[in-house]
Amino acid sequence: MSISPLVLSGVFAFGLMVGSFLNVCIWRIPAEEQVVKGRSHCRRCAKEIAWYDNIPLLSFLLLRGRCRHCKAKISWSYPFVELITGILFAATVMHFGWSKVTAAYVILGASLIVLSMIDFKEMILPDEITLPGISLGVILSFYAPELHGSFTRWGGLWAGVMGALVGSGLLWIIGVIGTWLFKREAMGFGDVKLMAMVGAMIGVWKVLLVNLILAPVLGAVVGLVLKFRYGRDLIPFGPFLALGTIVAIFWGDGIIGWYRNLLVGG
Ligand SMILES: [Zn+2]
Repeated sequence: MSISPLVLSGVFAFGLMVGSFLNVCIWRIPAEEQVVKGRSHCRRCAKEIAWYDNIPLLSFLLLRGRCRHCKAKISWSYPFVELITGILFAATVMHFGWSKVTAAYVILGASLIVLSMIDFKEMILPDEITLPGISLGVILSFYAPELHGSFTRWGGLWAGVMGALVGSGLLWIIGVIGTWLFKREAMGFGDVKLMAMVGAMIGVWKVLLVNLILAPVLGAVVGLVLKFRYGRDLIPFGPFLALGTIVAIFWGDGIIGWYRNLLVGG
């Protein structure tokens, strides 16, 4: 199915706006502030931000990344989150068309963006997102069994529950082994809950791919760079699990097929 460039730009613009809301979640959820009420303020001069200074991506460029009033630098994370949300929305619609699967992946992707940014800033993965995410993943597996290539709702539900159990259980075991090997806590329980949420939506095979191959490889490469270039020792694992999940959603079937051929010998 092909989707016209005009429609895709519309989806991209919608993604930018959703990204703008995700930014609010990223700043307010860890601070235990209300997400829906209250206008945004500059974090330094506390002046209310006018609507014309709050247009996704555009305002940041026009203001050259500074507050209109006090000229304080605006965090790079605002335009970054808006941009990746826009790209994610457009890419998902382009790849999966107008379907329930697209809706589920867009919700999962948006949750992963919020979780990754909070984990990156604060080294936590709040229960306020992961726990409802797990329930939602299981419910969506029932209503959109296509997510798991299943034709019946009960089949979808079963695949979702198994994905959640395998995703979280395996990561928990990896964490226990890691803590034992490195003599310090390798990852938190937040990561385990995150993978229950992810597993419920992407199923057993793709969640195995994320846990065993994609996230460890991405984490090791970036971790080494951060350690040697910036001396940063403690890095959050959430963003790598999220990145691995995005790779698995778009290219997982291909990678799994390639592995099977390799094992079976073509
Ligand atoms: Zn200001």
